[in-house]
Amino acid sequence: MKKPFITKEQAEEIAKSYPTPFHIYDEKGIRENMRRVREAFAWNPGFCEYFAVKALPNPAILQILMEEGAGFDCSSLTELMLAHAVGDGKERIMFSSNETPAEEYRMAAEFGAVINLDDITHIDYLKKVNGSLPKTLSLRYNPGGVFQMSNGIMDNPGDAKYGLTKEQLIEGYRILKENGVEHFGLHAFLASNTVTNEYYPMLAGQLFALAVEVQEQTGVAIDFINLSGGVGIAYRPDQEGNDIMAIGEGVKREFERILVPAGLGDTAVYAEMGRFMTGPYGALVTRAIHEKHIYKEYIGVDACAVNLMRPAMYGAYHHITVLGREDAPCDHTYDVVGSLCENNDKFAIDRQLPEISIGDLIYIHDTGAHGSAMGYNYNGKLKCAELLLAPDGSVTQIRRAQTPADYFSTLDGQPVYEKLLALAEGR
Ligand SMILES: *Cc1c(COP(=O)(O)O)cnc(C)c1O
Repeated sequence: MKKPFITKEQAEEIAKSYPTPFHIYDEKGIRENMRRVREAFAWNPGFCEYFAVKALPNPAILQILMEEGAGFDCSSLTELMLAHAVGDGKERIMFSSNETPAEEYRMAAEFGAVINLDDITHIDYLKKVNGSLPKTLSLRYNPGGVFQMSNGIMDNPGDAKYGLTKEQLIEGYRILKENGVEHFGLHAFLASNTVTNEYYPMLAGQLFALAVEVQEQTGVAIDFINLSGGVGIAYRPDQEGNDIMAIGEGVKREFERILVPAGLGDTAVYAEMGRFMTGPYGALVTRAIHEKHIYKEYIGVDACAVNLMRPAMYGAYHHITVLGREDAPCDHTYDVVGSLCENNDKFAIDRQLPEISIGDLIYIHDTGAHGSAMGYNYNGKLKCAELLLAPDGSVTQIRRAQTPADYFSTLDGQPVYEKLLALAEGR
């Protein structure tokens, strides 16, 4: 049973100040989860979780995570700016980008970020862009082939654009060493949204063995191994979520089996989780505004794929609770749909739900990662507000909704801009 973290009464109260749709995030859930992550890896003194900023790039959330000891994993100019503004220079940044423009490498270096290179040619590129190589550099590994786990989950690194081959990696560390780099990292992201405690330990086993091989072949001792993201969450009610304590134990087992005997027991373990850190602690709250009976039963809501793109983009499942009907039988079959002129704008298809009436509040679960962040402005639809539920039950707005004036703002300088602005402002 997936349970909303707010009740219908709370949601109605919130909607008086902040009209639907809105994303709301549970601060308590985020803090407690971050503490569990640190506890799970407390056996590794160098451990750091670099929160993947792209999952939820809101400064209030970044602030909370930093207070709980997180660093930030960035992959773009604006993410670097966000991390640096929130951290005020005290932040730890991992810059795991790809196809990186020169100005982003420059900014990453300026902010003291650890740069994680996605390709062997980027060594020269970075050197050219920044004049020299930093003392610390990390390389991203792609083993090719398929990555398979015992429960059948797999991903396809061989088809992924990221990372260096093994031969390039060995060569890469040699080049870094010759260029005076002193601290070395190894990174890989081989499977996404894995709902199994096996993924991180398996990945760690591969990377730890590779670190031993790198040392044997090049004399380079890897200082940190970055397991990156990919730890998933249980979007479906019948899934069992990951147990981060078991995951931490599994990584420790591999560490003691492979790195410690090789004399690499000082290696730090890093993570760059996004989804696992905030996904379950966010929800999109939207209101049923239309019902339609044609060949199927439709409920039209005031949110659309602009607010949450995952179902439209990947057919992703997001659980839905009709607030106030938590205990009612799911004896109706609905498509719950948004207003885009795109037939994939469906939050749920053929979903068994309680009867929905116009005006009901619909709670879409697990939008705390890759939710609001992935939004766009198709059909000229505007992105909704983001709210934060504090541990004391109070709610603050941490990002206002977009306005028509925001939407038109990049037309400044165009002939109709003043007219548009007047319309947007109701003048
Ligand atoms: C997206 C991404 C992450 C976070 O992935 P999650 O699946 O959200 O944990 C971490 N590192 C890199 C380089 C990424 O691109």
